[in-house]
Amino acid sequence: MSRFSLEGRRALVTGANAGIGQAIAVGLAEAGAAVVCAGRRDCDETLALVAAAGGRAEPLALDFADPMAAKGVFEGEGFDILVNNAGIIRRADSVDYAEADWDDVMDVNLKALFFTCQAFAREVLSRGGGGRIVNIASLLSFQGGVRVPAYTASKHGVAGLTKILANEWAGRGLNVNAIAPGYIETANTEALRADPERSKAILDRIPAGRWGAAEDIAGTAVFLCSPAAAYIHGAVLNVDGGWLAR
Ligand code: NDP
Repeated sequence: MSRFSLEGRRALVTGANAGIGQAIAVGLAEAGAAVVCAGRRDCDETLALVAAAGGRAEPLALDFADPMAAKGVFEGEGFDILVNNAGIIRRADSVDYAEADWDDVMDVNLKALFFTCQAFAREVLSRGGGGRIVNIASLLSFQGGVRVPAYTASKHGVAGLTKILANEWAGRGLNVNAIAPGYIETANTEALRADPERSKAILDRIPAGRWGAAEDIAGTAVFLCSPAAAYIHGAVLNVDGGWLAR
């Protein structure tokens, strides 16, 4: 079997109804994994794309308004792969930033991510390891950004958690890594792309000369979940068209 095949694996992707999560779900299914598409909205479009690609997927309702929502989800279900993709952003100057926005962003981006990792790891480690976690971080895991204090803090936290969890679990057969996407064409960045001035400023700074596609992130996720990536632990891989190389 190819060192890049996910045949026989079972994966759960959070926020799989759209954007990067959708592309990752399709990519994992194309590589042979059976994929559970978790979302707070329905994942019908993703399920149709997976079916069209000849893959297998099923939906799961999961809303991280309760950060502990994944508790019990993995028990006895034979999962090998977890992709923590769900994330939100709320913009305001730090001087005005509202406590409710801070709490919402931290709950979804950081608290839910940690306790979903914990629920998954308890299951995988209890059967002797052999699993993969991929967390979706951000350029703002490395940089400051503007008017996004909770998002930046949460994504720095995702990078930190990825390292500590890798450190704790690498020796027990569970690989934990993260992907830090650059500027990717999804609903998340629609407003930025619609603003000619800001869009041009961003494009001018990307060495690759284009925005990223969700599929660029999916390819990296498939690789990190594959046997070929067995010796990668605690990496936060930036997939950003060279943004951080500048
Ligand atoms: P989208 O807004 O298209 O997708 C975000 C996903 O998270 C959606 O599926 C959304 O579901 C889900 N989500 C949000 N809140 C919750 C919740 N309470 N419970 C469960 N799921 C929830 O954005 P992207 O695809 O662009 O983003 C995906 C990830 O990539 C995020 O973690 C984001 O921070 C990260 N990222 C994106 C970048 C980009 O340029 N696009 C750059 C760097 C990082 P719903 O549709 O129901 O709201």
